[in-house]
Amino acid sequence: MSQTPPPRARAEIDLAALRANVRALRARAPQAALMAVVKSDAYGHGMVPCARAAQAAGATWLGTATPQEALALRAAGIQGRVMCWLWTPGDPWREGIEADLDMGVSGLWALTEVTAAARETGRPARIQLKADTGLGRNGCQPADWPELVAAALDAEAEGTVKVTGLWSHFACADEPGHPSIAAQLDVFREMVAYAEKEGVEPEVRHLANSPATLTLPESHFDLVRTGIAMYGISPSPELGTHEELGLRPVMTLAASLALVKQVPAGHGVSYGHHYVTSHETTLGLVPLGYADGIPRHASGRGPLLVGGERHTIAGRVAMDQFVVDLGGQKIHEGAEALLFGPGDRGEPTAEDWAEAAGTIAYEIVTRIGTRVPRVHLNEDSDE
Ligand SMILES: *Cc1c(COP(=O)(O)O)cnc(C)c1O
Repeated sequence: MSQTPPPRARAEIDLAALRANVRALRARAPQAALMAVVKSDAYGHGMVPCARAAQAAGATWLGTATPQEALALRAAGIQGRVMCWLWTPGDPWREGIEADLDMGVSGLWALTEVTAAARETGRPARIQLKADTGLGRNGCQPADWPELVAAALDAEAEGTVKVTGLWSHFACADEPGHPSIAAQLDVFREMVAYAEKEGVEPEVRHLANSPATLTLPESHFDLVRTGIAMYGISPSPELGTHEELGLRPVMTLAASLALVKQVPAGHGVSYGHHYVTSHETTLGLVPLGYADGIPRHASGRGPLLVGGERHTIAGRVAMDQFVVDLGGQKIHEGAEALLFGPGDRGEPTAEDWAEAAGTIAYEIVTRIGTRVPRVHLNEDSDE
C-alpha cells in the first residue's frame, strides 16, 4: 500500500564518473602524480567518498585548503599523502604533524609556528614552501624567498622540518595564452632553482591546477593538483565543454515537485511579481532555493528539465523554493525536476547554470547547501 515518497531534493554523485575523470586527467599528465583536490567538501560532492574514489583511480595525493579538512580525512581513516595549504595563526600544527599531513608554508610566521609544534611533538613536520609567482594571493614573494628558504633549511638542520615540496599556483591558467602564464612559469623555475641551489631537496615541485593540467604540459612538473575537472566540469568555457575535454559531470541535482496547480492569466509569480502568467497555465513548485545554493541571480533565467521538457525559472528564486511555468504540460506532484547533471537526458549542466547566473560552474556545485542530501552512486570500484 504505502509507497516511499521521493525525497524533496538530492544531489546524486556518480563516483564511477569521478574515477573515470581522474583516469582521464592522469592520462593528460602521465609523468606527474595526481593530487585530488577535495577542499570545501569536494566542491560540494562529499569529501570522504570522493577522496576514496579518487584514490581508487590512482590519485596518490589528496589536497584540502584548511587543516581541519585534512584532519577530517584522517579521522575518516583515509591514508596516503594529504596536503593542506590554508593555515591561519593558531591553527592545529601539532595535530597536522601527528596526522602526517604535508603542510603548506607561505611565510615566516607559519614556519615559526610549525617548528614550535614539531619541538613539542618530537617529530619533524613535512612542509611545502609556497612561492607567490604572480597570483598575488597566498605564497612567499620572490623578495622574501631567500629568508624563508634559509629559515626552512635551518629548521631542517635542527630536525624540526622536512621540506617535501616547492609549489605555487596560477592566476590565469584558464585563459590560454595569457602573458602571466609564461611569466609565472619563469618565476617558478627561478624560485625552485634558488631553493635547490641552497640545498632544499623537494620530493615534489608543483604548479598546475585543472586548466593547466589540461592545457599546459610544461607546467606539470612532479604533481598536478586537479579540482574542478575531476568533478567533470570544464574550468572555463574558453577551454571547451566538459565533453570536449573528455570529462563527465559527477553531480546531478534533482528535486521533486512539491505542488502543481492551475492559475489564471495575469497571475504574478513569486516575490516581486517579476513574472506574470500570460495565459491560464500550470505552475510547478520546486522545493529548492538560495538556502540550498540555487543562485538568486538565476531568478527568471535558471534552466531545468521537468518531465522531459526544458523550462526556465519563473520569477524570483526564494530561500527555499522557486516556481516553474509548465504551460500545458500534464504533470503531478512528486514528478522529477532535474536542475543539472551530465546532460544525457536533456537536462542542463552546471556550466549552463553558471552562464545563467553570471558566475563560474565551480560556484554552482560548491554552494549546494547541506540541506540537500548527497547520494553517492557506484561506490564500488570498477577496476
Ligand atoms: C583549489 C585549488 C586547486 C584546484 O583548482 P582547480 O582549478 O579546481 O583544479 C589547486 N591548487 C590550489 C592551491 C587550490 O587552492
